[in-house]
Amino acid sequence: MGVQESYPIDVEAIRADFPILDRLVGGDVETPGQGPDDDTPLYYLDNAATSHTPEQVVEAISDYYRGYNANVHRGIHQLSQEASVAYEEAHDTVADFIGAAGREEIVFTKNTTEAENLVAYAWGLTELGPDDSVVLSEMEHHASLVTWQQIAKRTGAEVRYIRVDDDGYLDMDHAAELIDDSTAMVSVVHVSNTLGTVNPVADLADLAHDHDALIFVDGAQSAPTRPVDVEAMDADFFAFSGHKMCGPTGIGALYGKEAILESMQPYLYGGDMIRRVTYEESTWEDLPWKFEAGTPSIAQGIAFAAAVDYMEEIGMDAVQAHEELLAEYAYDRLSEFDGVDIYGPPGDDRGGLVAFNVEGVHAHDLSSIVNDHGVAIRAGDHCTQPLHDKLGIAASARASFYVYNTREEIDELIDAVTDARDLFA
Ligand code: PLP
Repeated sequence: MGVQESYPIDVEAIRADFPILDRLVGGDVETPGQGPDDDTPLYYLDNAATSHTPEQVVEAISDYYRGYNANVHRGIHQLSQEASVAYEEAHDTVADFIGAAGREEIVFTKNTTEAENLVAYAWGLTELGPDDSVVLSEMEHHASLVTWQQIAKRTGAEVRYIRVDDDGYLDMDHAAELIDDSTAMVSVVHVSNTLGTVNPVADLADLAHDHDALIFVDGAQSAPTRPVDVEAMDADFFAFSGHKMCGPTGIGALYGKEAILESMQPYLYGGDMIRRVTYEESTWEDLPWKFEAGTPSIAQGIAFAAAVDYMEEIGMDAVQAHEELLAEYAYDRLSEFDGVDIYGPPGDDRGGLVAFNVEGVHAHDLSSIVNDHGVAIRAGDHCTQPLHDKLGIAASARASFYVYNTREEIDELIDAVTDARDLFA
Protein backbone atom coordinates (compact mmCIF):
# COMPACT_ATOMS: atom_id res chain seq x y z
CA MET A 1 0.00 0.00 0.00
CA GLY A 2 1.32 3.41 -0.89
CA VAL A 3 1.15 5.38 2.31
CA GLN A 4 1.02 9.14 1.90
CA GLU A 5 3.64 11.18 3.70
CA SER A 6 1.45 13.84 5.22
CA TYR A 7 0.45 12.35 8.55
CA PRO A 8 1.20 13.56 12.07
CA ILE A 9 2.69 10.10 12.77
CA ASP A 10 4.86 7.69 10.83
CA VAL A 11 2.03 5.44 9.64
CA GLU A 12 4.25 3.30 7.46
CA ALA A 13 6.60 2.44 10.34
CA ILE A 14 3.64 1.81 12.63
CA ARG A 15 1.99 -0.53 10.11
CA ALA A 16 5.14 -2.64 10.07
CA ASP A 17 4.54 -3.45 13.76
CA PHE A 18 1.16 -5.07 12.97
CA PRO A 19 1.56 -8.26 10.91
CA ILE A 20 -2.22 -8.80 10.88
CA LEU A 21 -2.56 -5.79 8.58
CA ASP A 22 -0.72 -7.73 5.86
CA ARG A 23 -3.14 -10.63 5.83
CA LEU A 24 -5.59 -11.17 3.03
CA VAL A 25 -9.29 -11.83 3.46
CA GLY A 26 -11.73 -13.74 1.28
CA GLY A 27 -10.55 -16.30 -1.22
CA ASP A 28 -12.50 -19.54 -1.01
CA VAL A 29 -15.70 -18.07 0.35
CA GLU A 30 -18.51 -19.05 -2.07
CA THR A 31 -21.53 -17.31 -0.57
CA PRO A 32 -22.12 -13.75 -1.77
CA GLY A 33 -21.99 -11.31 1.10
CA GLN A 34 -19.62 -13.53 3.04
CA GLY A 35 -16.38 -11.96 1.93
CA PRO A 36 -14.39 -11.03 -1.16
CA ASP A 37 -14.27 -13.54 -4.06
CA ASP A 38 -10.52 -13.34 -4.37
CA ASP A 39 -7.79 -12.76 -1.87
CA THR A 40 -8.10 -9.10 -0.97
CA PRO A 41 -6.14 -6.81 1.34
CA LEU A 42 -7.69 -6.13 4.71
CA TYR A 43 -8.84 -2.57 5.42
CA TYR A 44 -9.53 -2.64 9.13
CA LEU A 45 -11.80 0.23 10.17
CA ASP A 46 -13.37 -1.27 13.31
CA ASN A 47 -10.97 0.09 15.89
CA ALA A 48 -13.56 1.53 18.25
CA ALA A 49 -14.64 -2.10 18.83
CA THR A 50 -11.11 -3.40 19.23
CA SER A 51 -7.70 -2.37 17.97
CA HIS A 52 -4.90 -4.58 16.71
CA THR A 53 -1.87 -5.65 18.68
CA PRO A 54 1.69 -4.68 17.72
CA GLU A 55 4.63 -7.07 17.88
CA GLN A 56 5.95 -5.27 20.96
CA VAL A 57 2.82 -6.17 22.93
CA VAL A 58 2.67 -9.74 21.62
CA GLU A 59 6.31 -10.06 22.70
CA ALA A 60 5.52 -8.80 26.21
CA ILE A 61 2.96 -11.61 26.50
CA SER A 62 5.26 -14.28 25.15
CA ASP A 63 8.22 -13.01 27.24
CA TYR A 64 6.11 -13.54 30.34
CA TYR A 65 5.00 -17.07 29.41
CA ARG A 66 8.42 -18.06 28.11
CA GLY A 67 10.47 -16.40 30.81
CA TYR A 68 8.79 -15.80 34.17
CA ASN A 69 5.29 -17.27 34.25
CA ALA A 70 4.25 -17.50 37.92
CA ASN A 71 1.50 -16.32 40.21
CA VAL A 72 1.91 -12.89 41.76
CA HIS A 73 2.07 -11.88 45.43
CA ARG A 74 2.23 -15.51 46.56
CA GLY A 75 5.71 -16.87 46.17
CA ILE A 76 9.09 -16.14 47.61
CA HIS A 77 10.64 -17.85 44.60
CA GLN A 78 12.33 -15.81 41.94
CA LEU A 79 9.78 -16.29 39.16
CA SER A 80 6.96 -15.14 41.37
CA GLN A 81 8.94 -12.12 42.43
CA GLU A 82 9.74 -11.20 38.84
CA ALA A 83 6.09 -11.59 37.84
CA SER A 84 4.93 -9.58 40.87
CA VAL A 85 7.30 -6.71 40.17
CA ALA A 86 6.33 -6.56 36.47
CA TYR A 87 2.61 -6.77 37.28
CA GLU A 88 2.81 -4.11 39.99
CA GLU A 89 4.94 -1.81 37.87
CA ALA A 90 2.36 -2.12 35.09
CA HIS A 91 0.00 -0.25 37.44
CA ASP A 92 2.56 2.59 37.72
CA THR A 93 2.85 2.80 33.92
CA VAL A 94 -0.93 3.00 33.53
CA ALA A 95 -1.16 5.56 36.35
CA ASP A 96 1.40 7.79 34.61
CA PHE A 97 -0.40 7.42 31.29
CA ILE A 98 -3.58 9.09 32.59
CA GLY A 99 -2.04 11.45 35.13
CA ALA A 100 -2.98 9.51 38.28
CA ALA A 101 -0.90 9.97 41.42
CA GLY A 102 0.26 6.35 41.60
CA ARG A 103 -0.57 2.66 41.61
CA GLU A 104 -2.91 3.02 44.62
CA GLU A 105 -5.34 4.74 42.28
CA ILE A 106 -5.26 2.13 39.48
CA VAL A 107 -7.29 -1.07 39.81
CA PHE A 108 -6.84 -3.55 36.98
CA THR A 109 -10.18 -4.88 35.77
CA LYS A 110 -11.24 -7.09 32.88
CA ASN A 111 -12.36 -4.06 30.83
CA THR A 112 -14.27 -0.78 31.05
CA THR A 113 -17.53 -2.63 31.69
CA GLU A 114 -16.14 -4.37 34.76
CA ALA A 115 -14.78 -1.05 36.05
CA GLU A 116 -18.26 0.48 35.73
CA ASN A 117 -19.76 -2.48 37.56
CA LEU A 118 -17.11 -2.36 40.27
CA VAL A 119 -18.03 1.22 41.16
CA ALA A 120 -21.76 0.64 40.76
CA TYR A 121 -21.69 -2.35 43.12
CA ALA A 122 -19.00 -1.33 45.58
CA TRP A 123 -19.98 2.34 45.82
CA GLY A 124 -23.51 2.55 44.38
CA LEU A 125 -25.19 -0.21 46.35
CA THR A 126 -24.09 1.26 49.67
CA GLU A 127 -24.21 5.00 48.89
CA LEU A 128 -27.41 5.34 46.83
CA GLY A 129 -30.95 5.50 48.16
CA PRO A 130 -34.45 6.64 47.14
CA ASP A 131 -33.60 10.33 47.66
CA ASP A 132 -30.64 10.23 45.31
CA SER A 133 -30.29 10.75 41.59
CA VAL A 134 -27.72 9.39 39.15
CA VAL A 135 -27.19 11.59 36.11
CA LEU A 136 -26.15 9.95 32.84
CA SER A 137 -26.25 11.25 29.29
CA GLU A 138 -28.42 10.09 26.40
CA MET A 139 -25.27 8.95 24.59
CA GLU A 140 -24.04 6.49 27.25
CA HIS A 141 -22.76 3.08 26.24
CA HIS A 142 -24.74 0.19 27.74
CA ALA A 143 -21.73 -0.50 29.99
CA SER A 144 -22.68 2.56 31.98
CA LEU A 145 -26.37 2.96 31.16
CA VAL A 146 -27.53 -0.57 31.97
CA THR A 147 -25.28 -0.81 35.02
CA TRP A 148 -26.54 2.35 36.70
CA GLN A 149 -30.12 1.57 35.64
CA GLN A 150 -29.92 -1.74 37.48
CA ILE A 151 -28.22 -0.31 40.57
CA ALA A 152 -30.85 2.45 40.65
CA LYS A 153 -33.63 -0.15 40.55
CA ARG A 154 -32.08 -1.91 43.53
CA THR A 155 -31.50 1.24 45.57
CA GLY A 156 -34.55 3.28 44.57
CA ALA A 157 -32.37 6.05 43.09
CA GLU A 158 -33.66 8.04 40.13
CA VAL A 159 -31.79 7.98 36.79
CA ARG A 160 -31.73 11.19 34.75
CA TYR A 161 -30.39 11.67 31.24
CA ILE A 162 -28.67 14.78 29.93
CA ARG A 163 -30.16 15.60 26.53
CA VAL A 164 -28.15 15.25 23.33
CA ASP A 165 -28.97 18.08 20.92
CA ASP A 166 -29.57 17.78 17.17
CA ASP A 167 -25.88 18.31 16.42
CA GLY A 168 -24.80 15.48 18.71
CA TYR A 169 -23.57 17.67 21.59
CA LEU A 170 -24.60 17.43 25.21
CA ASP A 171 -27.06 20.15 26.21
CA MET A 172 -25.05 21.69 29.03
CA ASP A 173 -27.97 23.89 30.19
CA HIS A 174 -29.94 20.71 30.64
CA ALA A 175 -27.00 19.19 32.52
CA ALA A 176 -26.99 22.19 34.87
CA GLU A 177 -30.73 21.69 35.47
CA LEU A 178 -30.50 17.95 36.07
CA ILE A 179 -27.47 17.91 38.35
CA ASP A 180 -28.78 19.16 41.67
CA ASP A 181 -28.42 18.50 45.38
CA SER A 182 -30.08 15.09 45.01
CA THR A 183 -27.35 13.98 42.61
CA ALA A 184 -24.88 11.51 44.04
CA MET A 185 -23.21 10.33 40.82
CA VAL A 186 -22.72 11.72 37.33
CA SER A 187 -21.55 9.09 34.86
CA VAL A 188 -20.66 10.32 31.38
CA VAL A 189 -18.81 9.08 28.36
CA HIS A 190 -15.75 11.14 27.42
CA VAL A 191 -15.79 10.39 23.67
CA SER A 192 -19.01 8.89 22.32
CA ASN A 193 -18.50 5.59 20.52
CA THR A 194 -21.47 6.36 18.25
CA LEU A 195 -21.50 10.12 17.69
CA GLY A 196 -17.79 10.79 18.07
CA THR A 197 -18.68 13.72 20.35
CA VAL A 198 -15.95 14.82 22.75
CA ASN A 199 -17.78 15.78 25.92
CA PRO A 200 -16.70 18.62 28.24
CA VAL A 201 -15.99 16.28 31.14
CA ALA A 202 -14.09 18.89 33.22
CA ASP A 203 -17.16 21.18 33.12
CA LEU A 204 -19.38 18.26 34.07
CA ALA A 205 -17.00 17.45 36.93
CA ASP A 206 -17.36 21.04 38.17
CA LEU A 207 -21.14 20.77 38.01
CA ALA A 208 -21.07 17.45 39.88
CA HIS A 209 -18.69 18.73 42.54
CA ASP A 210 -20.73 21.92 43.06
CA HIS A 211 -23.44 19.58 44.32
CA ASP A 212 -21.13 17.22 46.23
CA ALA A 213 -21.72 14.50 43.66
CA LEU A 214 -19.03 12.24 42.21
CA ILE A 215 -18.24 11.89 38.52
CA PHE A 216 -17.36 8.69 36.66
CA VAL A 217 -15.84 9.26 33.22
CA ASP A 218 -16.08 6.43 30.68
CA GLY A 219 -12.78 6.77 28.87
CA ALA A 220 -13.09 3.66 26.67
CA GLN A 221 -12.80 5.76 23.50
CA SER A 222 -10.76 8.66 24.87
CA ALA A 223 -7.75 7.13 26.63
CA PRO A 224 -6.73 5.24 23.45
CA THR A 225 -7.01 8.29 21.22
CA ARG A 226 -5.98 11.48 23.04
CA PRO A 227 -3.94 12.68 26.02
CA VAL A 228 -5.88 12.15 29.25
CA ASP A 229 -5.20 13.80 32.60
CA VAL A 230 -7.61 12.58 35.25
CA GLU A 231 -6.40 15.18 37.75
CA ALA A 232 -6.87 18.07 35.33
CA MET A 233 -10.40 16.90 34.49
CA ASP A 234 -10.99 16.25 38.21
CA ALA A 235 -12.63 12.87 37.57
CA ASP A 236 -13.41 10.83 40.66
CA PHE A 237 -13.40 7.66 38.57
CA PHE A 238 -12.14 7.00 35.05
CA ALA A 239 -12.21 3.70 33.15
CA PHE A 240 -10.75 2.30 29.94
CA SER A 241 -9.90 -0.99 28.21
CA GLY A 242 -6.52 -2.29 27.02
CA HIS A 243 -7.88 -3.94 23.87
CA LYS A 244 -8.91 -0.61 22.35
CA MET A 245 -5.36 0.78 22.59
CA CYS A 246 -3.10 -1.92 21.16
CA GLY A 247 -3.24 -4.01 24.33
CA PRO A 248 -4.63 -7.50 24.86
CA THR A 249 -8.22 -8.38 25.68
CA GLY A 250 -9.10 -9.22 29.28
CA ILE A 251 -7.49 -6.18 30.87
CA GLY A 252 -8.64 -2.65 31.62
CA ALA A 253 -8.20 -0.07 34.33
CA LEU A 254 -10.33 1.72 36.85
CA TYR A 255 -8.85 4.95 38.15
CA GLY A 256 -10.32 6.21 41.42
CA LYS A 257 -9.23 9.02 43.70
CA GLU A 258 -7.35 7.36 46.52
CA ALA A 259 -9.55 8.67 49.35
CA ILE A 260 -12.70 7.48 47.59
CA LEU A 261 -11.29 4.02 46.83
CA GLU A 262 -10.14 3.81 50.46
CA SER A 263 -13.66 4.56 51.67
CA MET A 264 -15.22 1.84 49.50
CA GLN A 265 -15.76 -1.77 50.46
CA PRO A 266 -14.32 -4.45 48.16
CA TYR A 267 -16.37 -5.63 45.19
CA LEU A 268 -15.10 -9.22 45.06
CA TYR A 269 -13.74 -11.24 47.99
CA GLY A 270 -11.13 -13.98 48.13
CA GLY A 271 -7.41 -14.48 47.90
CA ASP A 272 -4.93 -11.68 47.25
CA MET A 273 -7.23 -8.90 48.46
CA ILE A 274 -7.00 -9.69 52.19
CA ARG A 275 -4.47 -8.74 54.84
CA ARG A 276 -5.57 -11.00 57.71
CA VAL A 277 -8.29 -13.61 57.92
CA THR A 278 -9.64 -15.40 60.99
CA TYR A 279 -12.73 -17.59 61.29
CA GLU A 280 -14.57 -14.52 62.53
CA GLU A 281 -13.23 -11.57 60.57
CA SER A 282 -11.16 -10.42 57.61
CA THR A 283 -9.26 -7.24 56.85
CA TRP A 284 -8.30 -5.89 53.45
CA GLU A 285 -5.05 -5.40 51.57
CA ASP A 286 -3.87 -1.91 50.64
CA LEU A 287 -4.99 -0.26 47.43
CA PRO A 288 -5.25 -1.24 44.69
CA TRP A 289 -5.03 -4.94 45.63
CA LYS A 290 -8.13 -4.67 47.83
CA PHE A 291 -10.10 -4.57 44.56
CA GLU A 292 -8.17 -7.28 42.71
CA ALA A 293 -9.40 -10.54 44.23
CA GLY A 294 -7.97 -13.86 43.06
CA THR A 295 -5.27 -14.47 40.50
CA PRO A 296 -5.34 -11.43 38.23
CA SER A 297 -4.75 -11.29 34.45
CA ILE A 298 -0.98 -11.19 34.90
CA ALA A 299 0.25 -11.50 31.32
CA GLN A 300 -2.45 -9.13 30.13
CA GLY A 301 -1.61 -6.58 32.83
CA ILE A 302 2.07 -6.62 31.90
CA ALA A 303 1.19 -6.38 28.20
CA PHE A 304 -1.21 -3.52 28.94
CA ALA A 305 1.81 -1.56 30.18
CA ALA A 306 3.67 -2.52 26.99
CA ALA A 307 0.73 -1.10 25.00
CA VAL A 308 0.92 2.13 27.01
CA ASP A 309 4.66 2.33 26.26
CA TYR A 310 3.88 1.78 22.58
CA MET A 311 1.28 4.55 22.50
CA GLU A 312 3.51 6.94 24.41
CA GLU A 313 6.34 6.29 22.02
CA ILE A 314 4.07 7.51 19.20
CA GLY A 315 2.90 10.38 21.41
CA MET A 316 -0.73 10.90 22.40
CA ASP A 317 -0.92 14.42 20.95
CA ALA A 318 0.14 13.02 17.59
CA VAL A 319 -2.31 10.10 17.94
CA GLN A 320 -5.12 12.58 18.52
CA ALA A 321 -4.06 14.66 15.50
CA HIS A 322 -4.04 11.53 13.33
CA GLU A 323 -7.47 10.46 14.58
CA GLU A 324 -8.92 13.89 13.86
CA LEU A 325 -7.37 14.03 10.42
CA LEU A 326 -8.88 10.67 9.41
CA ALA A 327 -12.26 11.44 10.99
CA GLU A 328 -12.51 14.69 9.06
CA TYR A 329 -11.42 13.03 5.83
CA ALA A 330 -13.99 10.24 6.23
CA TYR A 331 -16.69 12.72 7.18
CA ASP A 332 -15.97 14.87 4.12
CA ARG A 333 -15.84 11.93 1.75
CA LEU A 334 -19.08 10.42 3.09
CA SER A 335 -20.71 13.85 2.84
CA GLU A 336 -20.11 13.76 -0.93
CA PHE A 337 -22.92 11.19 -1.26
CA ASP A 338 -26.56 12.18 -1.53
CA GLY A 339 -28.69 10.27 0.90
CA VAL A 340 -26.04 9.52 3.50
CA ASP A 341 -26.85 10.48 7.09
CA ILE A 342 -23.85 11.02 9.36
CA TYR A 343 -24.53 11.16 13.08
CA GLY A 344 -22.87 13.52 15.53
CA PRO A 345 -20.85 16.74 15.32
CA PRO A 346 -19.12 18.13 12.21
CA GLY A 347 -16.08 16.41 10.76
CA ASP A 348 -13.63 18.85 12.30
CA ASP A 349 -14.94 18.44 15.85
CA ARG A 350 -15.05 14.76 16.69
CA GLY A 351 -13.08 11.72 17.78
CA GLY A 352 -11.80 9.23 15.21
CA LEU A 353 -15.01 7.54 14.18
CA VAL A 354 -17.97 8.14 11.90
CA ALA A 355 -21.35 6.41 12.23
CA PHE A 356 -23.67 6.74 9.25
CA ASN A 357 -26.52 5.29 7.22
CA VAL A 358 -27.00 5.10 3.47
CA GLU A 359 -30.56 5.69 2.34
CA GLY A 360 -32.23 2.47 1.21
CA VAL A 361 -29.46 0.18 2.49
CA HIS A 362 -29.70 -1.51 5.88
CA ALA A 363 -26.53 -1.02 7.92
CA HIS A 364 -26.02 -4.80 8.12
CA ASP A 365 -26.29 -5.18 4.33
CA LEU A 366 -23.94 -2.26 3.92
CA SER A 367 -21.39 -3.76 6.25
CA SER A 368 -21.66 -7.11 4.48
CA ILE A 369 -21.10 -5.59 1.01
CA VAL A 370 -18.27 -3.48 2.36
CA ASN A 371 -16.79 -6.69 3.77
CA ASP A 372 -16.81 -8.09 0.23
CA HIS A 373 -14.26 -5.36 -0.51
CA GLY A 374 -12.09 -6.40 2.44
CA VAL A 375 -13.24 -3.41 4.48
CA ALA A 376 -14.08 -4.19 8.12
CA ILE A 377 -16.58 -1.81 9.72
CA ARG A 378 -19.16 -2.29 12.43
CA ALA A 379 -22.93 -2.36 11.95
CA GLY A 380 -25.55 -2.39 14.67
CA ASP A 381 -26.46 -0.20 17.61
CA HIS A 382 -22.91 -0.01 19.00
CA CYS A 383 -24.28 -0.69 22.51
CA THR A 384 -26.22 2.59 22.42
CA GLN A 385 -29.75 1.36 21.74
CA PRO A 386 -31.57 4.23 23.46
CA LEU A 387 -29.50 6.74 21.45
CA HIS A 388 -30.38 4.90 18.24
CA ASP A 389 -34.06 5.02 19.29
CA LYS A 390 -33.71 8.75 19.79
CA LEU A 391 -32.12 9.11 16.34
CA GLY A 392 -35.06 7.10 14.95
CA ILE A 393 -32.88 4.33 13.53
CA ALA A 394 -32.46 0.67 14.38
CA ALA A 395 -28.82 0.46 13.38
CA SER A 396 -25.95 2.37 11.84
CA ALA A 397 -22.67 1.57 10.14
CA ARG A 398 -19.54 2.80 11.88
CA ALA A 399 -16.01 3.28 10.57
CA SER A 400 -13.41 3.94 13.24
CA PHE A 401 -9.73 4.70 12.84
CA TYR A 402 -6.46 4.14 14.59
CA VAL A 403 -2.77 4.84 14.33
CA TYR A 404 -2.19 2.46 11.40
CA ASN A 405 -5.07 3.68 9.22
CA THR A 406 -4.65 5.77 6.09
CA ARG A 407 -6.73 7.95 3.79
CA GLU A 408 -6.41 5.26 1.12
CA GLU A 409 -8.27 2.84 3.36
CA ILE A 410 -11.07 5.38 3.71
CA ASP A 411 -11.09 5.67 -0.10
CA GLU A 412 -11.62 1.88 -0.22
CA LEU A 413 -14.56 2.31 2.14
CA ILE A 414 -16.02 5.00 -0.11
CA ASP A 415 -15.69 2.74 -3.19
CA ALA A 416 -17.40 -0.05 -1.30
CA VAL A 417 -20.22 2.23 -0.13
CA THR A 418 -20.65 3.37 -3.74
CA ASP A 419 -21.07 -0.27 -4.77
CA ALA A 420 -23.61 -0.88 -2.04
CA ARG A 421 -25.62 2.14 -3.12
CA ASP A 422 -25.56 1.06 -6.76
CA LEU A 423 -26.66 -2.45 -5.82
CA PHE A 424 -29.67 -1.22 -3.86
CA ALA A 425 -30.57 1.74 -6.12
N1 PLP B 1 -17.79 2.57 26.84
C1 PLP B 1 -17.60 2.93 25.56
C2 PLP B 1 -17.76 4.36 25.15
C3 PLP B 1 -17.23 1.97 24.62
O1 PLP B 1 -17.04 2.31 23.33
C4 PLP B 1 -17.08 0.62 25.04
C5 PLP B 1 -16.76 -0.44 24.06
O2 PLP B 1 -17.09 -0.38 22.93
C6 PLP B 1 -17.28 0.32 26.39
C7 PLP B 1 -17.63 1.32 27.26
C8 PLP B 1 -17.12 -1.07 26.90
O3 PLP B 1 -15.82 -1.50 26.73
P1 PLP B 1 -15.46 -3.02 27.06
O4 PLP B 1 -16.31 -3.85 26.14
O5 PLP B 1 -14.01 -3.12 26.75
O6 PLP B 1 -15.80 -3.23 28.47
